[in-house]
Amino acid sequence: MPLYTYRCQECSAVFEALVRPNRPEPEACQICGKAAITRQMSAFAVTHSEVDALRSLDPTYKRMVEDQMARTPDGEPMRILNKLTPFDAADDPGDPIDF
Ligand SMILES: [Zn+2]
Repeated sequence: MPLYTYRCQECSAVFEALVRPNRPEPEACQICGKAAITRQMSAFAVTHSEVDALRSLDPTYKRMVEDQMARTPDGEPMRILNKLTPFDAADDPGDPIDF
């Protein structure tokens, strides 16, 4: 279901509407009720192109991150987690602090 963005020529309101298949698109502004709305480029299409742009960067970026992680073992989350004391082995912390 496409999500369309509409702009009102009368009051400049911008609103979004989910347009279901075989249902009419909105014909009037949701704010002022005037029928002077135009459909804008959908946010869906913009997001999609951004995803494509990120995907095209991905192989290089992923390798950079992995190289950096290999050089900084302290950055590995499991290394930190393994140093923590599990709940069943922890000392009783005492009474909760009353703020
Ligand atoms: Zn309006």
